[in-house]
Amino acid sequence: MAKEPKGVRLDNITKIYQDPKTKKDFAAVDNITLDIKPGSFVTLLGPSGCGKTTTLRMIAGFESPDTGDIYLGEEAINALTPHKRDTAMVFQSYALLPHYNVFDNIAYGLKIRKMSKEDIYKRVMDMVDLVELTGLEERQTNQLSGGQQQRVALARALVMEPGVLLFDEPLSNLDAKLRVTMRTEIRKIQQKLGITAIYVTHDQSEAMSLSDQIILMNKGKIAQIGTPQEIYFSPKNEFVADFIGEVNFLPGKLQKIENNKALVATYGTTIEAESFENLQPGDDCKVVLRPESVELHDEGRIPCEVILSTFMGSYQYYQVMVGDTMVKITEYNAKSRKIYKVGAKASITFDNSNLHVL
Ligand code: ATP
Repeated sequence: MAKEPKGVRLDNITKIYQDPKTKKDFAAVDNITLDIKPGSFVTLLGPSGCGKTTTLRMIAGFESPDTGDIYLGEEAINALTPHKRDTAMVFQSYALLPHYNVFDNIAYGLKIRKMSKEDIYKRVMDMVDLVELTGLEERQTNQLSGGQQQRVALARALVMEPGVLLFDEPLSNLDAKLRVTMRTEIRKIQQKLGITAIYVTHDQSEAMSLSDQIILMNKGKIAQIGTPQEIYFSPKNEFVADFIGEVNFLPGKLQKIENNKALVATYGTTIEAESFENLQPGDDCKVVLRPESVELHDEGRIPCEVILSTFMGSYQYYQVMVGDTMVKITEYNAKSRKIYKVGAKASITFDNSNLHVL
């Protein structure tokens, strides 16, 4: 990429909408502040209606915030119209010109900028090559597959060499397998060009596989910002733990606080927790245990009964009862591994270092 990638900063951004039913105002985006580093791939993730698209559209300039400032690099951009901003957006619907061919779709923005024919040709052909559409330049876009159309949409955004590339759920119209292929390609291209990318999705596996940082939103607010690993292994609260991946919540009790660490008892074991905001000794709490961190054995300290045992190919999915608590377990299947059947009496084990206290 010829140009330097830009960072994006949102300072106390709020967007108020009126609920069409109740006619009451509500904050679709509620006073969020965040800082996106130049060259990073960041996803806005969260359930439907949490405000991620509105946030993206405010960065693009299709919506304006009611309060707060948006910066692209060092420049405050609130007052700029979308095409004056150094951003380009890849839409879910592709938004291609149906009666134009691939070349002209990709060239469109450059023609408006009145770039010379030779420069346009070179830049478009470089993009055609990058998104692997070579040979299809003359094809009309309504005669392309969904995946090919999405590549054209990506090339059309990239050819503008934006400081920041924005994606609004770009893969949701593709089938599951193609989605996985395309997301890998998007990530590779982003890394190759070193461009800043902000990507909206409600698909947590998409967010985890693509991102340097995930911004997880809930009801207009930021629930947590972190690397995929931080969000997965050290969720800040129950919403985050539950939204990302499968999770077990074990009942725990905070026993005492020593040297800024909390000692938490769960299932006859005591673990140390570093984050225990708002918890006092004697309080009940929840202990997060991911299903892949649990193993089933014939005998052990924590007895259980298997109530569901499902073969999933690469792994076996179990649900077991430990007293009154249902625990989900995924065990990767080696051919020789013992598979427990429904009704089997067994026991669970886990490494304390895999526990995380909320
Ligand atoms: P999804 O994944 O379903 O697209 P989202 O997280 O992107 O969800 P937004 O599209 O940002 O959510 O919408 C946030 C909230 O604002 C929702 O409750 C939505 O109904 C509401 N909303 C969005 N646009 C408008 C509008 N123009 N007028 C009124 N309410 C709106």
